[in-house]
Amino acid sequence: MNEKNIYIVRCGEVALKGMNKPYFERVLLERVRGVLNSYDDTESRWNDGLMIVKVPKDIEREEIIRKISKVFGVASVSPAVEAPKDIEAIGEATASFMMDLIQKEDIKTFKVKGKRADKTFPIQSPEIGRIVGAKVLKTCKVLSVDVYHPDCELYVDVRRECTYIFRDKIKGFGGLPLGTNGRGLVLMSGGIDSPVAAFMMAKRGMRIEAVHFHSYPYTSPRAQQKVEDLCAALAGYMGTIRMYVINLLPIQEEIVKNCPEDETTLLVRRFMMRIAEGIAVRNKDMMLITGEDLGQVASQTAEALVVTDSVVKMPVMRPLIAMDKVDIMDKAKEIGTYDISIQPYEDCCTVFLPKHPVTKPKLSKIEQSESVLDVESLVEDAVASAEVIDITPR
Ligand code: ATP
Ligand code: MG
Repeated sequence: MNEKNIYIVRCGEVALKGMNKPYFERVLLERVRGVLNSYDDTESRWNDGLMIVKVPKDIEREEIIRKISKVFGVASVSPAVEAPKDIEAIGEATASFMMDLIQKEDIKTFKVKGKRADKTFPIQSPEIGRIVGAKVLKTCKVLSVDVYHPDCELYVDVRRECTYIFRDKIKGFGGLPLGTNGRGLVLMSGGIDSPVAAFMMAKRGMRIEAVHFHSYPYTSPRAQQKVEDLCAALAGYMGTIRMYVINLLPIQEEIVKNCPEDETTLLVRRFMMRIAEGIAVRNKDMMLITGEDLGQVASQTAEALVVTDSVVKMPVMRPLIAMDKVDIMDKAKEIGTYDISIQPYEDCCTVFLPKHPVTKPKLSKIEQSESVLDVESLVEDAVASAEVIDITPR
């Protein structure tokens, strides 16, 4: 058997799940196995409340950590070593772990924190720390102990089967494992907001499909490519994303020809919602998701959202609704979609942008403007025209 590197994977909320915990743990384990399935000879299992992952040593630690920490439900990951439950052996393993570290990093002071998760182990937690710390000190002569501000803190965790020694806790995103909360359809523009909205719902366990509207030839194929790139970035967290692509131009032209100019954006938004619902119903998606944010633009005032919402029966999730734009931008940077979103390609919404869009629309007035259109068949045609693209992680 190949020599293996060990990783401790900790779950966040999954641990709080009471009666349903085994289900969430099983799904989380499947998701972690899923992101590692391209490597031979890996092992992942639950042991005593921790997920222990073993991967052949020749695979870069950074690569494994990057993959595992992108799995929703993972609170943190630590590269670790295993030792038997014998204080001498634990001391030696910890000292050798530290020797490796000081060869790579400038560490002068350290501290060992012992923990006896297995209460049958005869030595208590503080004592474990002291004994093991003394062994490290003796082996790594350049080091000294600093219990308040050490350069390096090592953890020694004595569990039922064995002892784990680790140092870094690399944070994951937390949340719940993908697939534990149904499936939703996100209305995905090329902007900053909707990819973040998709991410936030997926982080709560929801599988995601996407629908994108363009106005070709007014919008360029590059604009669609940008949305595909966004989906590919998101697919790194949630696996292949199915994207429905629809040309909204026939509907936009009808609106521009027949309805008041200042209502254009809102009327377009209402069509987007109806078409999205048509696709979602067909695919058994349970909810729609948008990147709307209260008051951000004219079409997202409270009044405008009421008007947009009223055309669909399906619940519409707006996970960004109460966030400030700067915080949404920070989130987009953190998840790696920001740089794609800011590429300057036109969205279909900007093609027929009114000079002075209504900001406090009245539903009855909007419905009246719309009554001259054959809404049903326009929506049906659009739904039927959807092109389907499966976007895989890159
Ligand atoms: P985003 O940054 O997500 O584009 P935005 O602040 O630009 O949002 P709008 O253009 O008003 O806001 O769009 C509001 C929401 O409508 C978007 O978050 C998205 O969910 C949806 N949407 C807008 N344009 C499109 C499009 N071309 N295709 C699919 N959905 C869209
Ligand atoms: Mg937009």
